[in-house]
Amino acid sequence: MWGHADSIAAVARVSGQAAEAAGARTPLGRRFGKKAGVAMLKLGLETEEDLLRHYPRRYVERGAFTPLDAGRPGESATYVAEVVQLSKRFSRDRKMQIISVTISDGRASLDLTFFARQSYLAQHIERQLAVGTVAMFAGTLKQGYQGRLELTHPEYEPLESWDDEETAIREAAKPVPIYPAGAGIQSWQLRTSIRTLLDPLTEDDVVDPVPADVVRRRGLLTELEALRAIHAPDDAAAWKRARQRLRYDEAFVLQAALARRRADVAATDARPRPARSGGLVDAFDAQLPFTLTDGQRAVAEEISADLAAGSPMQRLLQGEVGSGKTVVALRAMLQVVDAGGQAALLAPTEVLAQQHARTITRLLGPLGEAGMLGGAAEGTRVTLLTGSLPAAARKKALLEAASGEAGIVIGTHALLGEQVSFADLGLVVVDEQHRFGVEQRDALRAKGAVMPHQLFMTATPIPRSVAMTFFGDVEVSTLREVPAGRSPIATHVVPAGNPRWMERVWAKIAEEVDGGGRAYVVAPRISSSQEEEGADVYDLFAEPGERKRPPGTPEMVDGGPDGTANVEDVAAWLRRHSGLPEGAIGVMHGRLSTEEKDAAMAAFASGEVPVLVTTTVIEVGVDVPEATVMVVLDADRFGLSQLHQLRGRVGRGSKPGTCLVVTWAEPGSGSHERLSVLADTLDGFALAEADLEQRREGDILGAAQSGRSSSLRLLRVIADADLIAQAREDARAVVAEDPTLEQHPELLGAITQLVDPDHEEFLDRA
Ligand code: ADP
Ligand code: MG
Repeated sequence: MWGHADSIAAVARVSGQAAEAAGARTPLGRRFGKKAGVAMLKLGLETEEDLLRHYPRRYVERGAFTPLDAGRPGESATYVAEVVQLSKRFSRDRKMQIISVTISDGRASLDLTFFARQSYLAQHIERQLAVGTVAMFAGTLKQGYQGRLELTHPEYEPLESWDDEETAIREAAKPVPIYPAGAGIQSWQLRTSIRTLLDPLTEDDVVDPVPADVVRRRGLLTELEALRAIHAPDDAAAWKRARQRLRYDEAFVLQAALARRRADVAATDARPRPARSGGLVDAFDAQLPFTLTDGQRAVAEEISADLAAGSPMQRLLQGEVGSGKTVVALRAMLQVVDAGGQAALLAPTEVLAQQHARTITRLLGPLGEAGMLGGAAEGTRVTLLTGSLPAAARKKALLEAASGEAGIVIGTHALLGEQVSFADLGLVVVDEQHRFGVEQRDALRAKGAVMPHQLFMTATPIPRSVAMTFFGDVEVSTLREVPAGRSPIATHVVPAGNPRWMERVWAKIAEEVDGGGRAYVVAPRISSSQEEEGADVYDLFAEPGERKRPPGTPEMVDGGPDGTANVEDVAAWLRRHSGLPEGAIGVMHGRLSTEEKDAAMAAFASGEVPVLVTTTVIEVGVDVPEATVMVVLDADRFGLSQLHQLRGRVGRGSKPGTCLVVTWAEPGSGSHERLSVLADTLDGFALAEADLEQRREGDILGAAQSGRSSSLRLLRVIADADLIAQAREDARAVVAEDPTLEQHPELLGAITQLVDPDHEEFLDRA
């Protein structure tokens, strides 16, 4: 249904004539007339069901009215007043009628202006707002002619004249729903149309995706009660209860869809890869220079059991940077190799793939050098396969993957290239899985003769309810503790406009370098002419005017067109002014070639170039234990989770880390407060939630969820965590009992509607 409305609406946007034709053809157009049909279609409303599901944006309580003389320009206001004057004239080009209305509450008056291109609309307004009518008016005040306040095109609602006073008082006390309206249709017109549809409905007319016994057990309103209360509530408690029920619907359908996907995977065959004693895993554990934390041990056991099962593992492993995910993943890979299979590890970038290869090779030692001099007899081989390999090396790597000689193959999406084949791919580990598109994952999955087990790793803490919503079909393991002996990171917010503080920042870097340490300096941009790299969330938080620079801004933080710090200018400035030798300052960003990036990382890791000015390409996973200081310039440009990840790069060795977040945001401003939260907590989960709370749902759900296609209209992922948990429990129970949903056609219908091609993508991309 939605898809159809979409295509018609698309046509409607192309041509006015087509819109007329299409609007008249929709069920709503036939019911409410061509003009209304066109206007509703533009709102994405095609069927009666669509209109019933067009929920109010807010409610106006009639108690909350503004006195007519109390508003100021730019404020939105709601008034109840009487029409005392109405006049109508044509615009100068005679294409429009202008209706001027004056309303009064007996003490003060206010002017309203309406413009009507069609004379029927002008007539309608004239009739509805005849002199003497008492109505509710809502809109945004602006300064009009001669400085007088006025409302242009306010929403309005004539208050019915009631026969008896009691009814009048009761009716007037009810909240008035205000609808998302559009061109050519007003909120009250939508309200009237919805009431026309709603009033004659009986319980049998309304499809409820939630089974009746669940409705009863949870004490929910019936679907019809909920629709009535959301569109025509008696009081605020009524629409709140209705909204809760409709939110539950959304959560339930989504969870049922996820439960079915989960059941589908469980019904798919995978080759069991049980643990083998005396194999690589045991040898690996024996040579580890540390003992696994309790958390690592517990998660490792969960994964080990999953791998031994006959259906594919689908597990998400989340844990802070440095919580020891890689070690856990490596054990899983070794278990698969012990069972005769191969494992593939996918990283989001070449730098990270290379680093994984180095780390894993180092952790394995002789166990990863099968067939080589000094390699352990029972060992395996680690092969790196990236897009930038020279032809000969690439050929060799391909051969090792295809022959099965390589037990562990590490790479970027180049691994998904068509020429790459595996002898027996048993496990796919995806690092930072949110950076992989679903098509890419599926391509890799298709490489196994049977579906391989899958482990997704993420260092971005995912709040419980988000995990339930978007990873509802996978099992989630969390590493909460960071291995003992790690020093905590101290974070300080530094005002960029204070030269003394900034001097201390640069002095701190020089000190650390003198003591054998390394420092990162992170900037949002690559160069003054370059777009930002990875700082894609900043504008959601910046407040207007907050980004203005005071005069006399030092050049090193004032490079970009809007004064945003950039790698090139900052590096140049540091080379001249930091007091460190010129060669001590290196740069790193996404526009460097692979060789240049490798060289930069290697020089930084070795200490040859102890200061690295970089964009967020270092965000994920890069491990240089000697790094002790990180300076983030224009830190307010980044999300809290992102900053938390960034600072996880320092203090990974024996020395404590310091993170200095530099900002132009004024103390007391929202952006500054946010950074203070970062300084106050090391809890990645708390920061992730703080991030999410500040974004609108649409931003959380991503592009696939934007605009009308959003299937979550009322549900809020963070705030409704408990409700989502309930819905998941209920949905899983229903699917467990009736996997094909034969007995639940309404639910099946709702899922199908949700999981149409666009939506399938959203479920996966999560
Ligand atoms: P993540 O992948 O979660 O960022 P890693 O697995 O890379 O974390 O571990 C970070 C560092 O901590 C590595 O140097 C690793 O060798 C070390 N490490 C992992 N587990 C432990 C442990 N149980 N005790 C001590 N050090 C550990
Ligand atoms: Mg890691």
